[in-house]
Amino acid sequence: MTRPNGSIRLAETNLNRSNGYAIMQTRFTLPQSSIPTHWYNLAADFPEPMDIPLHPGTRQPITPAEMSAVFPENLVAQEMSTERYIEIPEEVRDVYALWRPTPLLRAVRLEKALNTPAHIYYKYEGSSPVGSHKPNTAVPQAYYNKVAGTARLATETGAGQWGCSLALACQLFGLECKVWMVRVSFNQKPYRRLLMQTYGSTVYASPSDQTEFGRKQLAENPNCPGSLGIAISEAIENTVTNPGTKYALGSVLNHVCLHQTVIGEECIKQMEEAGEEPDVVVGCAGGGSNFAGIAFPFIRKKLCEGKAYRILAVEPSSCPTLTEGELRYDTGDTAGMTPLMKMYTLGRDFMPPSIHAGGLRYHGMAPTVSHAYKLGLLEAAAYPQNAVFEAAVLFARSEGLVPAPESSHAIRAVIDEAIQAREEGRKKVIVFNLSGHGLLDLASYDAYLNGQLRD
Ligand SMILES: *Cc1c(COP(=O)(O)O)cnc(C)c1O
Repeated sequence: MTRPNGSIRLAETNLNRSNGYAIMQTRFTLPQSSIPTHWYNLAADFPEPMDIPLHPGTRQPITPAEMSAVFPENLVAQEMSTERYIEIPEEVRDVYALWRPTPLLRAVRLEKALNTPAHIYYKYEGSSPVGSHKPNTAVPQAYYNKVAGTARLATETGAGQWGCSLALACQLFGLECKVWMVRVSFNQKPYRRLLMQTYGSTVYASPSDQTEFGRKQLAENPNCPGSLGIAISEAIENTVTNPGTKYALGSVLNHVCLHQTVIGEECIKQMEEAGEEPDVVVGCAGGGSNFAGIAFPFIRKKLCEGKAYRILAVEPSSCPTLTEGELRYDTGDTAGMTPLMKMYTLGRDFMPPSIHAGGLRYHGMAPTVSHAYKLGLLEAAAYPQNAVFEAAVLFARSEGLVPAPESSHAIRAVIDEAIQAREEGRKKVIVFNLSGHGLLDLASYDAYLNGQLRD
C-alpha cells in the first residue's frame, strides 16, 4: 500500500535545541580484524525452498552450464548454493579493509528534532570509496572472475553507483570494464560517468549503437530515456558475442544479496556493542541487495533464535515492486535473455518514470527478498519522492550527512516509525541501512528545494 504523502512539518522540528549529550556515545565502530569471515546465505534457512530459475526459451530448470555463458563457474556455484555460511576469500577481505567495517551511528540529533522516544541507529555504507554499499559485491565479483580467467567484465548501471563500484573493483584486480549506463542518468549525472572513467572503464549511454538490441530501441524511439532492463540486455549481448568477457550484475541475484550480508553481520555486532536490540530493521529496496544485506542476518535470528524483529523494505511509489507487483516468473532484463526468476515484478516491459532515485528504478525484486516477503518474514511500504526528500533534508540538517535519494526512502519510513513511537509514547529501537551518500546527487536536491519534483 502506498503511504500518504504526510508532512513532517520541518518548521516544528527541534533542530536548534542545544544538545546536552556532549559525551554520549553515538558511533559504534569495529576494528579491521572484525571484518566478517563469512557471508550468510538465507537460502539455507528458508522454511520452504525457493523456486528454481528456468531457461527463458525452454522453461526447463536452468543448468550451471547454461549460466556459465555469462557468469564464471565459481559465481554460478554461489548463485545456486544452499550452504549456510560461505567463506570470504582473504583477497576480498583485504580490499574490504579499505573501508570496512563501516560505522554504526545513533542519530541522536534526528531523534531530538523529532522529539521522539525512539532510538534511531544507522549503518553507514556511504563510507566506501564510491559512496555506496555496491562495492561489497563488486569486489568479490571481480575477484572470482579474475580467478576464473575472465579478461573483461560488461555491465549496466542506473544512477551510476554500480558502474563506479565495478569500475573500482575491476581496476583493483586488473580487469577491463565496459559499462552501459541508462541514458537519462548518463545525461543527468555526469560525475559518476567521470568517476568510472577515472577508474579506467569505458562508459556507453544506453540504449547505445554498440549492440543490436540498443540499435533496435533507438530506431523505435530516438529519445528513449533507457531503463535498467534495456541496459542489462545490451551488456549481456556484448558478453555473449565477445569471448573472454563475462557479465556482472549489481543487484537482484542470490550471490549479490549474499555478498551484501557483511552489512548485517557487522551491524549485529555493533548493536550488541550499543547494548540494544532492534524492534524494526529498515532498508530501501530497488533490486533488493542493500536491503538483503542488512536484513538477512537479522532474519536468521528471527528464524533460528525466535527473535521478533519487524523487517521493513521501502520502495518508491512510482516503482512499487513489492507493494503492487505480482509474484511470478519473469526475466531480469527487457529483451528476455536472462533466466526466468520467481520474483515480485511489475513486468519486464515496465518503464519506470525518471524519478531521482535512479537506483530504485527496476521492475523486479531479488528472488530471495521476494521469497522472504511471500513467507511473511518482512513487510513493505512505498513513498512518493517529495515525502522522501522532505525526510532527506531533515536528516541532512540534523545529522549532517546528505543521504542518497535511494537511502532516503528508508529514512522516510524510519521517521514515520519514530513519529508513531512518539504518538504512542513508547520507546522503539530502529536500525536502518544508510546505503549511500548523496553528494553526487545534489541536482536532485536542487529540484526538490526549488519545488520541481513531481509525485
Ligand atoms: C543501487 C543503490 C540502491 C538500490 O539497489 P539495491 O540493490 O536495492 O540495494 C540503494 N541505495 C543506493 C545508495 C544505491 O546505490
